[in-house]
Amino acid sequence: MTQSLDVLTSLVAAGGVVVLSGAGLSTESGIPDYRGPSGVARRHTPMTFQAFTRDPLARRRYWARSHLGWRLIAGAAPNAGHRAVAGLQDAGLVDAVITQNVDGLHGAAGSPSVIELHGRLDEVTCLDCGNLTSREELDRRLREANPDFVAQVAAVNPDGDVDLPDEQVAAFRPVDCGICGTGMLKPDVVFFGETVPAQRVARCFAAVEAARSLVVLGSSLTVMSGRRFVIRAAKRGIPVAIVNQGPTRGDGHATVRVDAPLGALLPQLAARVAGGAVAAAPAGV
Ligand SMILES: [Zn+2]
Repeated sequence: MTQSLDVLTSLVAAGGVVVLSGAGLSTESGIPDYRGPSGVARRHTPMTFQAFTRDPLARRRYWARSHLGWRLIAGAAPNAGHRAVAGLQDAGLVDAVITQNVDGLHGAAGSPSVIELHGRLDEVTCLDCGNLTSREELDRRLREANPDFVAQVAAVNPDGDVDLPDEQVAAFRPVDCGICGTGMLKPDVVFFGETVPAQRVARCFAAVEAARSLVVLGSSLTVMSGRRFVIRAAKRGIPVAIVNQGPTRGDGHATVRVDAPLGALLPQLAARVAGGAVAAAPAGV
């Protein structure tokens, strides 16, 4: 572990780092990682774009769960791990942050220009008129439409939905677009079965190819959407460091693996890098 941490420290201290972060970075902010350390899968299957757009019942269920889960997402604060990443960006060592998370916590921690691969949960898009509105505004409208909607929050997924009995789902009233009046609303996140916008993917590949190293933080790299950047880096001979609790599907490409909770490890890493940089880096380098 100490040896791995030394390798990770020297990679980060060299600068030119691109970070790829996942759900594991936000677990310490109270947002559960459904593929967490124990490897337990989420209790219900994730919403697909096809089910969301074609099945009114599935859509109602999504919004009912999401309406409850939003409280947790909206109330979440960045943790020491997010702050350490922002600090490394400030220090000029991290050039870009790509996140698979939709919680906006990198930005809340002060990270500039984060590439949000799977979008943001705090924005809502209309599938008809294309207007983007705030989730806060939608939340106000949903509360108005469902003044008596009370349910127990049992478990929350990174997508912001929670377990909910059928009868409570049936009682929930979703709302349509407040701008065109009839359009179907969807959180501005990439659902399963949906592709990440090509331009966004291209920005990520460009960042990865320009990197001196790729550091994965808290992702099991289960979905290709994120894993492809690890594969690309490895192909180009760019060192890949993976910090995650438990094994990942990118381990075969990793130069170094550190198995540790991120909220504890990242501040430690930042301190080591800062200490080493003061002692070792010549001026102007
Ligand atoms: Zn609309």
